[in-house]
Amino acid sequence: MVKNTLRKEILSRRRQMSDEACLTRSLGIQERFLQTPEFRAAGSLALYSPVLNEVYTEEIFRVARSRGMRVVYPRVQGEGLDFLLVETPDDLSCGAFGALEPTGGQAMAPADIDLMVLPGVAFDRAGHRLGYGKGFYDRALDVPGRRGLLVGLCFEQQLIDLLPAEPHDVRMDMLVTEERILSFRGLSITPNNLTKGGGPKR
Ligand code: ADP
Ligand code: MG
Repeated sequence: MVKNTLRKEILSRRRQMSDEACLTRSLGIQERFLQTPEFRAAGSLALYSPVLNEVYTEEIFRVARSRGMRVVYPRVQGEGLDFLLVETPDDLSCGAFGALEPTGGQAMAPADIDLMVLPGVAFDRAGHRLGYGKGFYDRALDVPGRRGLLVGLCFEQQLIDLLPAEPHDVRMDMLVTEERILSFRGLSITPNNLTKGGGPKR
């Protein structure tokens, strides 16, 4: 299957990134995200705990908490994800798939979260997201009345022109890389904008 071949290729490239490159690029991505009006306007934020050289998120957590934002992290529950409030890093411990997960804490419905930050294996220039193949975020975000913005964090090496996206695949409103921000709000997908690439640089 095409998605699986892509996953393997992109994950193996990301694994080869040095710790130092991962850290430096992650800091750049987080700083760029923290400056966006979308972050500044949000009262609640969903974050993730990085695994396997995903973009780090510690700095976003630190700043969000210092501003008094409500921050939730996903916890795997069967086929689904719960999003639970996390106040300090001590509220997280090792969970499914090697990621840190909240041990308890109040749950927030995905529909009520202002801004959701997602990791991904790859993203394309229309904002489609490729995950690890279990569709957790696709299912968790397929809820009526969801109004929050979806932001994908990725390294440039994870951006590809066109993913073999399926109708159930969630599409990001924005992507942040170590080099730029891609915005897709209001973008309708046409062959033209897929080949010409994402939104404006900021
Ligand atoms: P990923 O998003 O992790 O890359 P896929 O997009 O391939 O993985 O999704 C994996 C599986 O999850 C799909 O084959 C589908 O069966 C299931 N899935 C995804 N979204 C939904 C949804 N909204 N409702 C029900 N099942 C879904
Ligand atoms: Mg998917």
